[in-house]
Parts: sequence; structure tokens; C-alpha cells
Amino acid sequence: MTSRDFVYTGHPARVIFGSGTTARLPQEMQRLGAQRALILSTPQQESQAQAVAELLGPAAVGLFPGAVMHTPVEVSEHAAAMARRVMADVVVAIGGGSTTGLGKAIALRTDLPQIVIPTTYAGSEMTPILGETSDGQKRTQTTAKVLPEVVIYDVDHTLGLPSELSGTSGINAIAHAVEALYARETNPIITALALEAIGSLARALPVIAQDPGQREARADALYGAWLCGICLGSVGMALHHKLCHTLGGTFDLPHAECHTLILPHALAYNAPAIPEVMARLTTVLGQDPARALFDLGREVRAPASLAQLGMPADGIGRAVDLALANPYWNPRPLERDALTALITRAHQGQPPV
Ligand code: NAD
Repeated sequence: MTSRDFVYTGHPARVIFGSGTTARLPQEMQRLGAQRALILSTPQQESQAQAVAELLGPAAVGLFPGAVMHTPVEVSEHAAAMARRVMADVVVAIGGGSTTGLGKAIALRTDLPQIVIPTTYAGSEMTPILGETSDGQKRTQTTAKVLPEVVIYDVDHTLGLPSELSGTSGINAIAHAVEALYARETNPIITALALEAIGSLARALPVIAQDPGQREARADALYGAWLCGICLGSVGMALHHKLCHTLGGTFDLPHAECHTLILPHALAYNAPAIPEVMARLTTVLGQDPARALFDLGREVRAPASLAQLGMPADGIGRAVDLALANPYWNPRPLERDALTALITRAHQGQPPV
């Protein structure tokens, strides 16, 4: 055995990256041997879905603009029934993680191939993970059945992503790469991708906050988000993701904003246990990586504290209890007092220590 021994599992996907790449959709359908597309979006992005339908002409056999957060099972059943009714042979999802989630849920039920056109930095299109909600409970499963066959990254679709959502969605992506660096099964391939991704997003997000239409910065951010998605889909996540899952679910906090507020504190918590990772992070985030992530949140004008997101102060104790209730692997053991301090600082909007 050498210090180089590792296991790397790559997930197959064909990726087209650039500006104006949506125009390649008809050829990509042809490549898959598909002729009948069901197009998915949220109600807010129906006009983007309609533009895709126009591009496909008669090959667009249905439009389902009903994707919502957290992939409720009823919506997925409804959309899968529509896919069968219109005899779709491919689903085309245009949108963020919610729309991608719906495409995955349809693929799980029908085995249809998926083409995803991501418009946020969530990264779901690169993962074999599907979280579905039924009876108020979100259950997550990992299966290759939900992996999209083709992903078309088109920078043009991200130009209209509102600047605050761009910032928090981008930092949400960074969180996948940061936790991948210290995942138990991390490896040199994922480490290289993660550092490239974090550097790319950390450079781009402040520029986008000032000028959301800056195409080069938008391209850097989308490229970084793609790599962050690979990180999320390839190795296990730890304290940061578990805390966000608990806080988001218990106090109904918005996903990307919660990630933005917790990440600097979760990294500071783990820092003493991961000196090599911290040294690597200085190469892309500067001398104090946790502080740099906190400052990045301020630069993109993200909400300042969990209190501002609506989490009650008397919820901190409950959050710590829940965080300790289901033990999971983390580079530093979970300690009640230190976790209480972590959540308290995020709740008050203080910088990490
Ligand atoms: P989202 O998809 O819910 O989008 C948020 C809102 O922004 C929606 O109204 C959407 O229509 C709108 N929007 C998206 N792109 C836009 C654009 N370019 N211009 C204007 N409006 C736009 O949010 P998200 O953060 O992308 O995804 C969050 C969801 O994805 C969560 O449910 C999360 O659990 C899931 N997710 C899953 C995975 C996975 O691997 N399974 C990974 C990441 C996130």
C-alpha cells in the first residue's frame, strides 16, 4: 500500500459547455435516438421552457411547468403519467435543482433518458442522488437510474439568475467541494476538481454580485458549479451538509442561504482535524479560508444570520440535539459545546473563530 492508493468512481455523462449551447439540443436528442420530448420547468421558468419547445418544434410533445421545491411524490407521479400519456422518449429539464429533481424522479419511474439544462449552481445534474418528499418527510436515495445522460450547460441561461440567488447558490456549490476535500473516501481526482471549482467560484461570485450580466464571470461560476456537482455525486458529505439538512428541515430555512451561513463555521469547526486540507484551501481562498468564505457571503450580499432567516434563538438547543442524535462520520468528532458555539455564531451573524 502507498499513500497514493485510492478508489475513484466516475459517473458517465455527456457534457456540453458554453454559451448558446441550448441550440445543440435537437442534435443531442438525435444522438440519443429520441424524437418526443417532455419539457420540464418551474412555473417561474415556463417562458424558458417554452423557448425550448419552440426550438424543438414538433419534437416537443409536452410541457410540464409544475416543478416545485423538495420533489413532492404527487407532482412526480403526475408528471410521469403525463410522460407516458404523450409517449415521451426523453425528458428535457430546464431549471435549478428543483426541476432537475423532477426529471430524475420521472426517470426513476419510467427509465426515460434525461437531458438537463441547469440554470442555477446547485449541481444536482451531476449526482445519482434523488431526494423526494412524501407525508412531509424527505427521503434521499442514490441510484444510477436517476443520472442524467446529457447535460447542456449554457451560460446564457444563468445571466438572468438574480444576483443574490447567484451568490448563495454559488456558495452552496462551494460547500460540496469543501466537504469533498475532507470526505472519508476523497481521492486525488476529486481533490483536484474541488480546488479548481472553489477557486473558480470564489473569483467569479463577487464579480457577478456587482454585474450579474458579466459573461466571463458567469462562465467561471457555471464551470465551477459543474465540478462541485461532480464532488457532491462522488464522495460522502459530513458536518456541514448534515447541519444544513437538520436546520433547513426543522426550521424551514431556505436551502442555499442556510448553506452560505453555515459553511464558514463548519469549516472552522473541522479545521483543527484537517491541516492538509486547510493548507490546500489557502491556495484558492487565501490565508484564512473560513474567514474568506464568511467574507464572500457578505460580498454577495447574502442574509447575515440564521436569525435573519427566521430561526428562533431558542431553537439552537434543539438543533444541537438533532445534530447529535444521528451520528455520522466527520473529521472532527461531534462535541456538544463546540456545536452549540458554532450554531450560535451563525445565528448571530458573527465571523467564524
Ligand atoms: P430551485 O431549482 O428551487 O430554483 C429556485 C428558484 O429560482 C425557482 O423559482 C427557479 O425557477 C428559479 N430560477 C432558477 N434558475 C433561474 C434563472 N436562471 N433565472 C431566474 N430564475 C431562476 O433552486 P436550486 O437551489 O437550484 O435547487 C434546490 C433544490 O435542489 C433543493 O430541493 C435541493 O435539495 C436540491 N438539490 C439536489 C441535489 C441532488 O444531488 N439531488 C443537489 C443540489 C440540490
